[in-house]
Amino acid sequence: MTNKIWSNSGDSHFIEPENLWQENLPKKYADLMPRSERDADGEYETVHVDGQTFRRKLPNPKMVEFQEMSGAAPGHSDVSKRLPDLDQEGIWAEVVFPSLGMWNAMFRTREAVKAAMQVSNDWAKAEIADRSPRLLPTAQVSMVDIGDAIEELERAANLGFRSVFMPTQPPHTLPDYNRDEWEPFWAAAEAANMVLAFHIGTDPLDLAAGDAPGFVYRGPGGAVLNYTETTFSGQRATMKMVASGALDRHPDLKVLISEGGATWVPFLGDRMNEGYRQHAMMTFPKLSRSPKEILFSQVYASFQHDETAVPAVSAMGYNNVMWGSDYPHMEGTFGHTQETLHHLFDGVDEKVVHRITIGAFEELFPGTPPVPVSA
Ligand code: MN
Repeated sequence: MTNKIWSNSGDSHFIEPENLWQENLPKKYADLMPRSERDADGEYETVHVDGQTFRRKLPNPKMVEFQEMSGAAPGHSDVSKRLPDLDQEGIWAEVVFPSLGMWNAMFRTREAVKAAMQVSNDWAKAEIADRSPRLLPTAQVSMVDIGDAIEELERAANLGFRSVFMPTQPPHTLPDYNRDEWEPFWAAAEAANMVLAFHIGTDPLDLAAGDAPGFVYRGPGGAVLNYTETTFSGQRATMKMVASGALDRHPDLKVLISEGGATWVPFLGDRMNEGYRQHAMMTFPKLSRSPKEILFSQVYASFQHDETAVPAVSAMGYNNVMWGSDYPHMEGTFGHTQETLHHLFDGVDEKVVHRITIGAFEELFPGTPPVPVSA
């Protein structure tokens, strides 16, 4: 018998009721919410989002099977089934990303998305956060209007939310994250103690231009190329937060990049330091600390299987690494969490193990209920 390793998770997901928005919004907004209809031929579907209509080819049967398996863990939409799963796996507290919010960058009607985000956050408080202090859902905010996003961020913080979900890139209707228009949002997040939780692979889709979720590459190697490609979006978001000075101006503002591994942070630190130093005559704004210092102190990164994430802490001096289960997704560890944790941590310095499984998470979210003693 091996001992059970408990770990907090910086990356987990929950699936809301499919009709949450339709059933809780006034009809004029409910009609704008995302829905999909399968065409009679069975090969195409028509997606409607906020007055935009797109016809797209349905994924092949293998992809459908993949998507169904991805939500197969019984607790994906039910806290009473989720907690026994987590106990069994050895997962303690979780950052929980709701799923409908992944659409929030595709809306156009300001009032509709504002109302939808309120419905989502009220629901996540009642059905996730209030059900167990181990579950820390991310708040969701408008990606149509930054002022509305600030208002909802502050309302969510008052409801007890600790973090806000950020797509890895804003929709093209908003300025990019390195632009000054976002400054009031960063200030509000810092003041409200809200962690910016970017989940990799959430760049907004332009369905009208033929974008399909998870399909950048086709042909040989496509599945691995597409999976790996999603990682870079989190790195790009981080670079913008550092190079623009946003994190430097707001030293108490914290960023979490979920599911993207960890060794990219020391790597980016070196690259950004080199650029900042050797292109100094073109660099603005000037920062009060080096890009690498900012990254190492304000950016946290979660990984699930990456073996190199452990030496990011033990050999590269980057301490803000936290493990994440990605429950209930297929890329995650459901069904083999203990095997994964033992593979990663057996024989590793106890302090390093504690930092990655418990310490970094508790630092980011003070007051998390204590993890049971490993037995
Ligand atoms: Mn995830």
